[in-house]
Amino acid sequence: MKLTIFSRVLIGYLILIILVIAMGGYTFYQMVKINEVTQSILTVNNQMLDYSEKLLDLIYSQVRYEKKFIISKDDIFYIEFLRLKNDFDRYLEEMTPLADLSQTSLSLKNIKELFQNYQSLVHEEAEDLKRGYPPSHLPLNQQKEEATQSIISEIEKLKTTIRQNATDKTRLLYKIGMELRQVGMVMTGAFILIGILVSLFIHRSITAPVSILKKKTREIGQGNFQGDLRLTSPPELAELAGAFNLMCNKLNELDKMKSDFLSLVTHELRTPLSSIKMGMDLLRDGVEGPVTEGQKELLTVIEKESDRLIGLVNSILDLSKMEAGMMSFHLRPQPITPLIDQTIKELRPLVDSKKIILERKMTEGLPVVKVDGERILQALRNIIGNAIKFTPEGGRIKVSARTVDHGVEVAIADTGPGIPKENLITIFEKFQQVITDRTGSTQGTGLGLAIAKQIINHHGGKIWAESQLGHGSIFFFFLPA
Ligand code: ADP
Repeated sequence: MKLTIFSRVLIGYLILIILVIAMGGYTFYQMVKINEVTQSILTVNNQMLDYSEKLLDLIYSQVRYEKKFIISKDDIFYIEFLRLKNDFDRYLEEMTPLADLSQTSLSLKNIKELFQNYQSLVHEEAEDLKRGYPPSHLPLNQQKEEATQSIISEIEKLKTTIRQNATDKTRLLYKIGMELRQVGMVMTGAFILIGILVSLFIHRSITAPVSILKKKTREIGQGNFQGDLRLTSPPELAELAGAFNLMCNKLNELDKMKSDFLSLVTHELRTPLSSIKMGMDLLRDGVEGPVTEGQKELLTVIEKESDRLIGLVNSILDLSKMEAGMMSFHLRPQPITPLIDQTIKELRPLVDSKKIILERKMTEGLPVVKVDGERILQALRNIIGNAIKFTPEGGRIKVSARTVDHGVEVAIADTGPGIPKENLITIFEKFQQVITDRTGSTQGTGLGLAIAKQIINHHGGKIWAESQLGHGSIFFFFLPA
C-alpha cells in the first residue's frame, strides 16, 4: 500500500473517530428511547390511574345522590347527580387521547356505554317520579344496580391494565439499560483493541522501513557503499531511500577513484624505490670503488629508510588492491599451526632482542582451514609484530589456537600498554593509531590491522580485540573450517 505517513495516521484516526461517533449515536438513540418510556410512565399511566380513581369516586357519589333523590324526591339531589354526570363525561373525554393501548381504548368505550345506560335508567326513574309513580320500581332498581357494578368492574379492569402496562414499560426500561451496558462494555473493549491494532499498524509501517534505512546507514558507516535500497512505501521514505542510493553510488565512485589513485601512485613509487635500494646495495658492496666507513654508515641509514618506505608503499598497494577486490587469494585446505610457527620463527630475533617470553599453545585436533597461506602469514606477521612492538622488554606474549564453532580461533595476547575501549574498533581502520606516548604508535603506519582485517574477512572470518588498559591486549581472529 503506497500511502503517505500522513494518510496512514489520518486513516487510523478516522477509523477511531467513526467508531466513537457510531457508539455515541447508538447511546443517544437508546437514551431517547429511555426518555420516551419514562415520560410515558409518568404522564400517561399515572394520569390514567388518577382519572380512573376520579371516575370511581364520581360513580359512587352519583349512586349516593340518586338514592337520596329517590327517597326525598328533592330536585337538588337530582341536579347534583347531573352535575357529577357532566364531570364524569368530561373526564372520559380527557382520558381518550391518553389511551396508548387498544385495550384501554376499548375499556373507555365500554365505560362510556355502561355509564350512558345507567344515566338513562336514572333519567327514566326521575321522569316516573315526576309523574307521581311510586319509587321502588323493582326491575329498574336491579338494572341500575347491575349497571353501576359493571361500570365499577370495567373501571377496575382499566386500572389493572394501566398498572400492567406501567410494569411492562419498567421492564422495557431495565432491558434497554442492560443492553446499553453490554454494548458499552463490548464497544469499549473493541475500541481499545482497534486502537492498539491501528497504532501497531501505523508504528510498524513506519518503523520497518526506518530500520532498513538504519541498517543501510550502519553498512555505509562500515564501508559498504552498495546503493541497493529497495523501498517503495511509504512514499516519503521511498524518496529518502532513493536519495540514499544516489549518495551510495557517489560514495562508491569516490572510493574507487581513491583506490585507483592510491594504487597508481604506490606503483609509481615502488619501482624507483626498488631501484634506489638496489643502487645503494651495489654502492655499499664497493662495486663502484672503495667505500669509507663513514660513507657505509650513511648508506646503511639510507637503505633502512628505503626499506621502511618500500614497506609502507607495499602495504598501501596491498590494501588498495584488497579494497578494490583486485587481490587474488589462492585458497587451499591446510592446518593453521605451521603458519603460526613460521611467523614466530621469522619474528624470533625481534622477540629475543626485547627479552620477551613468547608462549605458544595449540589445542589438539585443530580442524584444517581453507586459506591462502601467504595472506594468513601476512596477517599473523602484522598482529604478532604489533604484540612484539608494543610489549615492553621482559614482557610476555602468548599465541594460542583452539577449535570454536567448526573453525579455528587464534588469540595473540600481550602484556603491552593496552588499548582504550573506544579505540578497539577503530584500530582496524586504515591510518588509525592510538595516540598515547606509551604505545609508541609513531613507529607504525596504521595499516597493519586494516590489512589483517581485509584478509580475515576475505576468508569469511572475523577479527576483533579485547583489552584492559595498562594490562595488555588480546587480538582474536576466527577462520571457518
Ligand atoms: P601500526 O603500524 O601503527 O602498528 P596497525 O594497524 O598495526 O598500525 O595498528 C594500529 C594501532 O593499533 C597501533 O598504532 C596501535 O596504536 C594499536 N595497536 C595495535 N596492536 C596493539 C597492541 N598489541 N597493543 C597496543 N596497541 C596496539
